[in-house]
Amino acid sequence: MKEIIQDLSFGELKTLVAACGEKPFRAQQIREGLVLGRKISELPLPKSFRAQLLDRFEDEPVRIVKTLVSAEDGTKKFLFRLADGNLIEGVLMRYRYGNTQCVSTQVGCRMGCKFCASTLGGLIRNLTAGEILGQILCVNREEGGTNSRRAVTNAVLMGSGEPFDNYDHVVKFLRNLTAEGGFCMSARNVSLSTCGLVPQMRRFASEGIPLTLTVSLHAVTDKERIRTMPVSAAYSIDQILQACAYYFEKTGRRYIFEYSLIAGENSDEAHATALAELLSGKPCHVNLIRLNEVSERTLKATSEREAHRFLEILKHRGISATLRRSMGSDIGGACGQLRASCIAQAMRDKNENEGENDVTN
Ligand code: SAH
Repeated sequence: MKEIIQDLSFGELKTLVAACGEKPFRAQQIREGLVLGRKISELPLPKSFRAQLLDRFEDEPVRIVKTLVSAEDGTKKFLFRLADGNLIEGVLMRYRYGNTQCVSTQVGCRMGCKFCASTLGGLIRNLTAGEILGQILCVNREEGGTNSRRAVTNAVLMGSGEPFDNYDHVVKFLRNLTAEGGFCMSARNVSLSTCGLVPQMRRFASEGIPLTLTVSLHAVTDKERIRTMPVSAAYSIDQILQACAYYFEKTGRRYIFEYSLIAGENSDEAHATALAELLSGKPCHVNLIRLNEVSERTLKATSEREAHRFLEILKHRGISATLRRSMGSDIGGACGQLRASCIAQAMRDKNENEGENDVTN
């Protein structure tokens, strides 16, 4: 694979332009083109300079290869192909306040959460900063975003992968995404979701990127959490809560807990009461969502009724909470579902072509 020009900060782009012996204004020109989702081959540059860049950098590091549109709510799901052929996915959700894109930070994931499709094949590789940004740039272009009106206004790092397991690239991506004169998304419009990697949560508090930190909790005791989230063996809920308090102390930002309601696992009334006690008085919000059932997994979603009951108990006890609609459920909204089904389909096609049934090769 060649290098990825979307990895570069503006400072690095300026250095590159100077090293190529080109006029300084070319750096801004390249940046403006890339921000609009253009390929290097589409940039209005002198032919020889363009050829030089194409020798070294991927022309299209992230390409949309499939789009599914939800008939229910207009949510769009994108399958992207990376330069090395790996597939990742993203979702664009339409809200009253803007369009939120969910981006992936890794190909696959090694955290092993039992309810999640992204982790089925383990971690394949980290994405680079430019591959994460590239997802937003090509969706923004596809949706007709301009300099004065972006089609993607918000971002959540909740696609495949654990952002804090790819710390340096994710931080660089966030700096490039929010850079003035670049895509210029406000950090306040960005949420980063982690399964609770405590050292990185603490480190991130000092990066000066005031985004919304979201932690996937999904349980009220360590004993129960470890059943669905193996990462609990490394960090306890208590350590996570302390890291959240530290994040609030350093940034003044409220934090969010994700809690997916799983039937017979974490969603009865006693769990709701225990969760309310655990979070009582903390500057946080709880996002409840009914589990998105993944065909490869056996866990089941809690009923609508139980989910509302859970929400009411939290609210009654003074916890700020919402039950999120599961968007795009008709198009496989949950992490990793599209990628998993496309890989499975590709395997089936390959096997049909080769006339064999062994899916392990
Ligand atoms: N690794 C990060 C971000 C990716 S997952 C994290 O763990 O937070 C984004 C969110 O979707 C997490 O809260 C995750 O627990 C949740 N999630 C994953 N699969 C899900 C499913 N099948 N149903 C509901 N939520 C799911």
